Formats: sequence, structure tokens, C-alpha cells
Amino acid sequence: MIDEGYIKYQCHWSKVEAIAQSDIGELNRWRKQLYQLGLIGEYDNGIGFGNLSIRLPHSAQLIISGTQTGGIANLTAQHYTKVIDYDWQQNYVTCQGLIQASSETLTHAAIYHLLPEINAVVHVHHQPLWEQLLDRVPTTNPDCAYGTPEMAQEIIRLCQQPLTQEQKIIVMSGHESGILTFGANLNQAGETLLKYFTTI
Ligand SMILES: [Zn+2]
Repeated sequence: MIDEGYIKYQCHWSKVEAIAQSDIGELNRWRKQLYQLGLIGEYDNGIGFGNLSIRLPHSAQLIISGTQTGGIANLTAQHYTKVIDYDWQQNYVTCQGLIQASSETLTHAAIYHLLPEINAVVHVHHQPLWEQLLDRVPTTNPDCAYGTPEMAQEIIRLCQQPLTQEQKIIVMSGHESGILTFGANLNQAGETLLKYFTTI
């Protein structure tokens, strides 16, 4: 069963215009490519999947795609939100934008928290690639469900390992089809994903 699309964190949301079109140029370029490849999209049941984020320079703030945007072909500034605070132990996210942050925000935040050199995170779904990579690249414990404090803790555990820092990819065993890649910038995060994707 695909366990996706439901926000499990407590959301402190200011519904204000916080994102400018100029903030999302690179995000949208990658987002469009991943959407066209079917790595971001929507299941037949209408549940969207896939999200991406960048860290704002020299801050702990992020811009991330909003919840339930997976099925939308072209995103605009209103589909992204700015995350200004978070805590996975307390399981909350504070965001500003016209949409609530992706249900996977705390997973992204865990990577940024642990790896200061990482400024972009991509999360996609792809069943064959997931099956191929499972337990061959850093893989989360199957008991951790997406969007939970346990998943964030598991991501932190993996990010402490040199292999994860080198490969910059994590397969989410307890979140079917779920894959994360990350990098110093979006190009690096996206290209790492495409490098694996082109092998299947
Ligand atoms: Zn997912």
C-alpha cells in the first residue's frame, strides 16, 4: 500500500505570499524534468508523490514543494512554501506560503540538519528503481514509515555514515518506491538520481 500524501507533522502555517517566481527557477526546472520522467506524479487514486527542496543560503530555512502537488504538471510560486522552523522530535513544521509544506518536510530537514554542505534534496517514487537499489545503497529500516519522527531519526542515522555522505542517495525501505537524493545544489541532487535512473 502506498502510504503517501497525508501530513503527519503538526503544521504551523501562515497562509501568506512568501515565495516569488524568481525563488523557484531552478526548483521548477528540475521539478519539470522529474515530472516528465514520471518520478514525480500522481497515483490512480489521486494521491500525489514526489517533492523537492532547497536550503536558503546561510540559513536553516527551506523552500519546498507543497503537499499534494505531485499531479500538477507545471508548478508556480503558489505551489511552494518557505519552511522557517521545524523540529522532528516535537514533530512540527512552521511554514509560510500559499500552501502547506510537503508531508515529507521533516525528512528533508533531517538531511539538511546533519549535512551542512547539502543544499538540495529530491524525493521521488519509482518502483523498479526502488527494487533495484533496496539494500544496495543506504536503506532505511523497513519499520520506519514516511513523514514520521522515526523516519527523520533513521535518515540522521544513515547520514552519519560515510557511505551515505559519499553516495548521496537513500532508499526508503518502509516507504514503497521512495528514494531520496541530495547534493550541494539541485543539479548535483538531480544528476545523482538520473545517474541511477538511467541504469534501469
Ligand atoms: Zn514519498
